Amino acid sequence: MTFKCKPDCKAECCGIIGFSTEFADKHEHLIKKPIKEVSVKAFMERSSILPDGDSILKLVDTAGVVFYIPPELKCVFLDENFKCMAYDDRPQICRLYGIHSDLLCPYMKPNGNPRSPGDQRRTQRKINRDVDLAMKGKVPHIR
Ligand code: SF4
Ligand code: SF4
Repeated sequence: MTFKCKPDCKAECCGIIGFSTEFADKHEHLIKKPIKEVSVKAFMERSSILPDGDSILKLVDTAGVVFYIPPELKCVFLDENFKCMAYDDRPQICRLYGIHSDLLCPYMKPNGNPRSPGDQRRTQRKINRDVDLAMKGKVPHIR
Protein backbone atom coordinates (compact mmCIF):
# COMPACT_ATOMS: atom_id res chain seq x y z
CA MET A 1 0.00 0.00 0.00
CA THR A 2 1.27 3.51 -0.74
CA PHE A 3 0.98 6.65 1.34
CA LYS A 4 -2.30 8.57 1.23
CA CYS A 5 -3.61 11.48 3.30
CA LYS A 6 -6.29 11.40 5.99
CA PRO A 7 -9.39 12.31 3.94
CA ASP A 8 -10.57 15.18 6.21
CA CYS A 9 -7.12 16.67 6.92
CA LYS A 10 -7.01 20.39 6.22
CA ALA A 11 -3.44 20.28 4.85
CA GLU A 12 -1.93 20.57 8.32
CA CYS A 13 1.60 19.95 7.03
CA CYS A 14 1.42 22.73 4.41
CA GLY A 15 3.06 25.52 6.40
CA ILE A 16 5.73 27.95 5.25
CA ILE A 17 8.42 26.27 3.18
CA GLY A 18 11.20 27.60 1.00
CA PHE A 19 10.71 27.52 -2.77
CA SER A 20 13.34 27.89 -5.46
CA THR A 21 13.21 31.19 -7.36
CA GLU A 22 12.32 29.17 -10.51
CA PHE A 23 9.30 27.61 -8.77
CA ALA A 24 8.25 30.99 -7.32
CA ASP A 25 8.45 32.71 -10.74
CA LYS A 26 6.65 29.90 -12.53
CA HIS A 27 3.70 29.70 -10.12
CA GLU A 28 3.32 33.22 -8.72
CA HIS A 29 0.15 33.73 -10.83
CA LEU A 30 -1.57 31.14 -8.61
CA ILE A 31 -1.24 33.41 -5.54
CA LYS A 32 -4.35 35.55 -5.27
CA LYS A 33 -3.33 38.15 -2.65
CA PRO A 34 -1.09 41.23 -3.09
CA ILE A 35 2.59 40.50 -2.53
CA LYS A 36 5.18 42.79 -0.92
CA GLU A 37 8.76 41.80 -1.75
CA VAL A 38 11.31 42.06 1.09
CA SER A 39 14.85 40.69 1.34
CA VAL A 40 15.47 38.11 4.08
CA LYS A 41 18.15 40.43 5.49
CA ALA A 42 15.74 43.37 5.74
CA PHE A 43 13.12 41.11 7.30
CA MET A 44 15.60 39.82 9.92
CA GLU A 45 16.77 43.34 10.74
CA ARG A 46 13.18 44.47 11.30
CA SER A 47 11.80 41.31 12.85
CA SER A 48 8.61 43.10 13.85
CA ILE A 49 7.51 43.19 10.17
CA LEU A 50 4.50 40.93 9.79
CA PRO A 51 2.14 40.62 6.84
CA ASP A 52 -1.04 42.66 7.16
CA GLY A 53 -4.49 41.20 6.56
CA ASP A 54 -4.42 41.51 2.78
CA SER A 55 -0.84 41.04 1.72
CA ILE A 56 1.82 38.37 1.61
CA LEU A 57 5.47 39.04 2.35
CA LYS A 58 7.76 37.54 -0.25
CA LEU A 59 11.18 37.01 1.34
CA VAL A 60 13.91 36.62 -1.26
CA ASP A 61 17.17 35.02 -0.17
CA THR A 62 20.43 35.62 -2.02
CA ALA A 63 20.85 31.82 -2.19
CA GLY A 64 17.89 31.62 -4.59
CA VAL A 65 15.23 30.61 -2.07
CA VAL A 66 11.87 32.35 -1.73
CA PHE A 67 9.66 32.22 1.36
CA TYR A 68 6.08 33.47 1.08
CA ILE A 69 4.64 34.53 4.44
CA PRO A 70 0.87 35.08 4.41
CA PRO A 71 -1.00 36.35 7.52
CA GLU A 72 -2.41 32.88 8.20
CA LEU A 73 1.10 31.34 8.04
CA LYS A 74 -0.05 28.56 5.69
CA CYS A 75 1.41 27.75 2.28
CA VAL A 76 0.31 30.32 -0.32
CA PHE A 77 -0.53 27.58 -2.82
CA LEU A 78 -3.43 26.19 -0.76
CA ASP A 79 -6.88 27.12 -2.04
CA GLU A 80 -9.91 27.73 0.20
CA ASN A 81 -10.65 23.97 0.20
CA PHE A 82 -7.08 23.14 1.36
CA LYS A 83 -6.09 21.79 -2.05
CA CYS A 84 -2.62 22.50 -3.46
CA MET A 85 -2.85 24.71 -6.56
CA ALA A 86 0.62 23.59 -7.68
CA TYR A 87 0.17 19.90 -6.82
CA ASP A 88 1.42 18.38 -10.09
CA ASP A 89 4.63 20.41 -9.88
CA ARG A 90 5.02 20.56 -6.07
CA PRO A 91 8.55 20.61 -4.64
CA GLN A 92 10.37 17.44 -3.61
CA ILE A 93 9.93 18.15 0.11
CA CYS A 94 6.14 18.07 -0.39
CA ARG A 95 6.41 14.76 -2.23
CA LEU A 96 8.45 13.24 0.62
CA TYR A 97 6.07 14.36 3.37
CA GLY A 98 4.57 11.34 5.08
CA ILE A 99 7.04 8.83 3.67
CA HIS A 100 10.44 10.18 4.83
CA SER A 101 11.49 9.42 8.42
CA ASP A 102 12.25 13.13 9.03
CA LEU A 103 8.91 14.26 7.59
CA LEU A 104 6.36 12.06 9.32
CA CYS A 105 2.60 12.62 9.07
CA PRO A 106 0.94 12.54 12.50
CA TYR A 107 -2.11 10.69 11.13
CA MET A 108 -0.97 8.23 8.46
CA LYS A 109 1.90 5.76 8.31
CA PRO A 110 4.23 5.71 5.28
CA ASN A 111 2.53 2.48 4.14
CA GLY A 112 -0.89 4.19 3.89
CA ASN A 113 -2.40 2.77 7.09
CA PRO A 114 -3.83 5.13 9.74
CA ARG A 115 -1.88 5.52 13.00
CA SER A 116 -3.45 4.40 16.29
CA PRO A 117 -4.21 7.19 18.81
CA GLY A 118 -1.06 6.28 20.80
CA ASP A 119 1.07 6.30 17.66
CA GLN A 120 -0.42 9.68 16.68
CA ARG A 121 0.67 11.14 20.05
CA ARG A 122 4.19 9.65 19.78
CA THR A 123 4.57 10.87 16.20
CA GLN A 124 3.32 14.34 17.10
CA ARG A 125 5.92 14.50 19.92
CA LYS A 126 8.67 13.58 17.42
CA ILE A 127 7.41 16.25 14.99
CA ASN A 128 7.41 18.83 17.82
CA ARG A 129 11.01 17.88 18.72
CA ASP A 130 12.07 18.26 15.07
CA VAL A 131 10.36 21.67 14.89
CA ASP A 132 12.18 22.75 18.08
CA LEU A 133 15.51 21.67 16.54
CA ALA A 134 14.68 23.48 13.32
CA MET A 135 13.89 26.66 15.29
CA LYS A 136 17.39 26.39 16.77
CA GLY A 137 18.88 26.12 13.29
CA LYS A 138 19.45 22.34 13.48
CA VAL A 139 17.34 21.38 10.50
CA PRO A 140 17.05 17.58 10.00
CA HIS A 141 19.15 16.43 7.08
CA ILE A 142 16.93 15.07 4.31
CA ARG A 143 18.79 12.30 2.49
S1 SF4 B 1 0.49 14.37 5.01
FE1 SF4 B 1 -0.71 14.15 6.91
S2 SF4 B 1 -0.75 16.22 7.81
FE2 SF4 B 1 -0.18 16.42 5.62
S3 SF4 B 1 -2.10 16.77 4.50
FE3 SF4 B 1 -1.69 14.55 4.48
S4 SF4 B 1 -2.81 13.73 6.25
FE4 SF4 B 1 -2.62 15.95 6.55
S1 SF4 C 1 3.35 23.53 -2.49
FE1 SF4 C 1 1.43 22.42 -2.22
S2 SF4 C 1 1.99 20.48 -1.21
FE2 SF4 C 1 3.71 21.92 -0.95
S3 SF4 C 1 3.39 22.93 1.04
FE3 SF4 C 1 2.42 24.21 -0.57
S4 SF4 C 1 0.26 23.56 -0.68
FE4 SF4 C 1 1.43 21.96 0.42
